[in-house]
Formats: sequence, structure tokens, C-alpha cells
Amino acid sequence: MAKTALVLGAGGFIGSHLVKRLKDDGFWVRGVDLKTPEYWDTFADHFVVGDLRDPDVVSDVLNVCFDEVYQLAADMGGAGYINTGDNDAEVMGNSILINVNVLKQAQKVGVKGVFFSSTACVYPEYNQMDPDNINTRENTVYPAAPDTEYGWEKLFSERLYLAYNKNYGMKNKIARYHNVYGPYGTWDGGKEKAPAAICRKVAKSNGSIEIWGSGEQRRSFLYIDECIKATVDFYREDSFYEPINIGSELTVSINQLVDIVSMVAGKDIEKLYISGPIGVHARTSHNELIESVLGYRPSEDLVFGMTHTYNWILEQVQNG
Ligand code: NAD
Repeated sequence: MAKTALVLGAGGFIGSHLVKRLKDDGFWVRGVDLKTPEYWDTFADHFVVGDLRDPDVVSDVLNVCFDEVYQLAADMGGAGYINTGDNDAEVMGNSILINVNVLKQAQKVGVKGVFFSSTACVYPEYNQMDPDNINTRENTVYPAAPDTEYGWEKLFSERLYLAYNKNYGMKNKIARYHNVYGPYGTWDGGKEKAPAAICRKVAKSNGSIEIWGSGEQRRSFLYIDECIKATVDFYREDSFYEPINIGSELTVSINQLVDIVSMVAGKDIEKLYISGPIGVHARTSHNELIESVLGYRPSEDLVFGMTHTYNWILEQVQNG
């Protein structure tokens, strides 16, 4: 009998890639999401279009004890969605309902542990003001001061997953993702993140593109394949049950990222600076812990990753 996996948020960027990986591993996979993947067909054996805010939907899709359960569903987006404050009630309210429903049902049917995708946005703003002194070690998350309500919801949900470990003996696993990018992700419409937005702007332009802020805000970016590998390896690792970073330690400014994409595209692009939501000044992953637990070291090859991402987005732009 094949092992079984449930992927919640399987219509999204990371979820759709994860389903593919689990199929490659020989699993029977059920995917659930509000929507099927937008840019490619799902690889899932069974895909349910459903709203995980509804407890009845969650009991229907999590009706048996799956061998592996990955919870990636969340109301989220890039800076244009989570940093403006305009969507805070939805972002917090929707995601917390999903996590409460999933944990209750997973515990009820006897799932050993759920993988929960948290975020770098849980880290305090005060540790990310000085680009030369960013601190995102896992144990610096308290005293808590995330810069967005999205971060606060994730932090509360982390605690909820840990509480189920403590009170019900579950073995939930929590990873804090740091800016994952790659093909088959949102690239327009307002929820896209910086790498995809820059690729789209460069693909559409022959002269200049607009950049929010000074372009000096720094971030690190992790290619999707490296994220999926760390996710699965960490979930299957059987000794460490505290939150862990999954990200890259290599920071670049948004200006440098634009230069990389321009180079990949073979275009000479002028940067026009406009006001817009920029988030914290600098953010990067801190990988000492994951390296000690998993021996994990991402390749951090931005030119490789951005080339694949840009070529895919160019194709989307050209196809209209
Ligand atoms: P995504 O938006 O592409 O995927 C999330 C999916 O959840 C979407 O397909 C959405 O339709 C689905 N969803 C939302 N509400 C739902 C509901 N009520 N019922 C069913 N499905 C619902 O995002 P992603 O980039 O694939 O991120 C996956 C997870 O990783 C999210 O939890 C996100 O917060 C976390 N994360 C991602 C990043 C990143 O860089 N991509 C960084 C940090 C954390």
C-alpha cells in the first residue's frame, strides 16, 4: 500500500510543488485548496476545492489518519497585500480559523504530527532595523514584535501547534519560511512577492521599472526546490520539535535583485523610485539550527533561480 499525504493549500505556490515532490516519493496525495493551481495542473490523486475555514470541510478532507499532513493554507501575499494594513482582518481571521480546524481534526483522527508553514515575519521588527545586525535566530522571536498582523497570526498559530504537542502528545513540526520564489507562483494581481514582481516588470519593460522605496531594503530569497527539500526532510526528522528557519542567508538589496534580473533578461533597465510598502529594512535567515539538525545548506545560487523564474514569467507575459 502506498503511503498517504494530505496537502492543505495544494493550489498555492509551495503546496503545488510539494504535491509533485510527494508524488515523486510514491505517495497517494490528496490536495485541498479554495482553487486548483493557477499555472499548472495538480499532480494530486484527489483534489478537493473547499474552504478550510469551514470545520465540516476539514472533517471531510481529513477523515482518516494520513501518514503525512502538510498545512500550508493561509490568506497571504507580498508586501502589497500584508504590509498595507488594508487586509489585516481577513489575513488574521481566515488563517486562524484554518489552523484551529486543522489541529482539532488532525488530533481527533490520530495524525502523528502536522507540518505548519510559519514565516520569517514572526521575528521582531527591532532586530531588523540595522542591515548589518539582523537577528533572526529562532530563539530571538520573543519579546514578540512582528511588524505585521500576518506575522502575529503565524506566531499565535505556532504556539497553538506547540500546545497540541504539549497537551496531546502530537509531533507537529513548524518551519519559518523566508521568501521562497520560483516558477508557478503568483506573478501579478497584487499578491505577488518581490522576485516575481521584478521579473514581471522587467519582462514587460524596455526602459524603466518602478521600485517601492529606495530599493536598498535587503532580503534573502530561497529557491522553491530547496524549500521543498528542507520541508520534507525536516518533517520526517524525528527528534526536533521547535520552530526552525527554512531560508537563505545570502542577502541582496532590491536594487541588486533588479540588476540580476536585468542581466538574466539581457536588458538595460532604469530604476524609478516611488513610495510604497517596503516592510522591515532588512531580513535574512539564520541557518545554524537547521544546519545542526538536518545538515541543510541551500545553494543560494540566485542567478540560477532567477533565470528559471524569469523565463517562466516571461512566458506568462508573452502568452497574455
Ligand atoms: P499561496 O498563497 O500561493 O498558497 C496559499 C494557499 O492557501 C492558496 O492557494 C490559497 O488559495 C489557499 N487558501 C487560503 N485560504 C484558504 C481557505 N480558507 N481554504 C482553503 N485554501 C485556502 O502561498 P505560498 O507562497 O504557497 O505559501 C504557502 C505557505 O507558506 C503559507 O502558509 C505562507 O504563509 C507560508 N509562507 C510562504 C512564504 C513564501 O515566501 N512563499 C514565506 C513565509 C511563509
